Amino acid sequence: MRRAIYPGSFDPVTNGHLDVIERARKLFDEIVVAVAHNDEKQPLFSLQERLDLLRETAGKINNVRIAEFKGLLVEFARTEKAGAVVRGLRAVSDFEFEFQMALMNRQLDAAVETIFLMPKEEYTYLSSRIVKEIARLGGDISSFVPACVAKALTRKFH
Ligand code: ADP
Repeated sequence: MRRAIYPGSFDPVTNGHLDVIERARKLFDEIVVAVAHNDEKQPLFSLQERLDLLRETAGKINNVRIAEFKGLLVEFARTEKAGAVVRGLRAVSDFEFEFQMALMNRQLDAAVETIFLMPKEEYTYLSSRIVKEIARLGGDISSFVPACVAKALTRKFH
């Protein structure tokens, strides 16, 4: 069983995340989308809300499972018997942080390989942060997130 973890905050899940999941699931038998507890990041959506929105969207895709994790990613990968971690790379600006994380994770557990996937060009400027900002200001986010996420954002801000 070739299993990969796709970790993140998913606050909330966007079409960019879904694009990465679609690509990743073709390369592995199973993708575990893992929502980080992220106590220090002050997310807009609670852990439960982030999990629910993922379950409503990515959770319906064959060979994709939604989970949560606390603590070290490499520990979670070991528990799940996953040999790889998938991350999305949008632009050069993502590179430095991702490079550091990947090498640190390799230092912690050499058996876990990090794989980077590039989304469709139109999603390269998309982030959860910018979607929240547009939604907060009342802009149209319907082409950036699934319908249930757009609805959840509207409920948060209006
Ligand atoms: P984190 O807090 O771990 O960065 P995010 O939910 O913001 O969590 O992102 C999770 C992963 O998804 C990261 O690897 C990030 O680069 C990637 N990602 C986020 N948005 C996009 C996008 N629009 N296209 C491709 N990858 C993305």
